[in-house]
Amino acid sequence: MSDSESNKNQQKHRQRQQKVKEQVDAKVAAADKVQGIFQVITGNGKGKSTSGFGTVARCAGHGKQAVVAQFIKGMWECGERNLLEKAGVPFAVMKTGFTWETQNRETDTQAAQQTWQQAKAWLQDDSIDLVLLDELTYMVSYDYIDLEEVLHAIAHRPKMQSVIVTGRGAHRKLTELADTVSEVRNVKHAFESGIKALEGFDF
Ligand code: ATP
Ligand code: MG
Repeated sequence: MSDSESNKNQQKHRQRQQKVKEQVDAKVAAADKVQGIFQVITGNGKGKSTSGFGTVARCAGHGKQAVVAQFIKGMWECGERNLLEKAGVPFAVMKTGFTWETQNRETDTQAAQQTWQQAKAWLQDDSIDLVLLDELTYMVSYDYIDLEEVLHAIAHRPKMQSVIVTGRGAHRKLTELADTVSEVRNVKHAFESGIKALEGFDF
């Protein structure tokens, strides 16, 4: 490439970047609302809860108050809980050990309701910056927690509080209310090729 060609390319690149910068600057200037954000992380791929916990760590890292309600007790110990509780993040975990295997509708509903009461109190507390409602979507799908009650509590939370709901098959009304919705698509998963869930990676 000759010197003049190289200069031309440089100039073209600079012009393109300048345009991108102007567009981004305009969007940044337009985003002037200061308020908490409601995010839904759904879909069949891996990475929903870990993403939610990542934001909890981000929030706690800034010295802000994050809390976690887990609506399905994992079959294994939750690595994030071991770490985050030490960092001052309270957890509410469903007591009776609701997992995919349990079939007792009455005790499952009771367990879901108990954790939901704690979550609801957090959703009214303006000293809390972030509420992670991990696997809440299933409680709504199974009718263990009333959808309208969830929508009302999230919609009427303190102005600066953010909320994250994770779980597959998020109800349309939840995604409609949300400011940010991410759908994690399953391209492939180690489990499908027979690789066992791994401590420190899957839980
Ligand atoms: P993670 O907690 O790893 O972010 P997730 O929250 O997106 O996963 P869940 O649907 O809550 O996924 O499933 C919890 C467990 O199931 C995790 O151990 C995860 O590795 C595993 N898992 C997630 N997606 C898949 C999948 N597509 N196939 C098989 N197992 C999966
Ligand atoms: Mg999950």
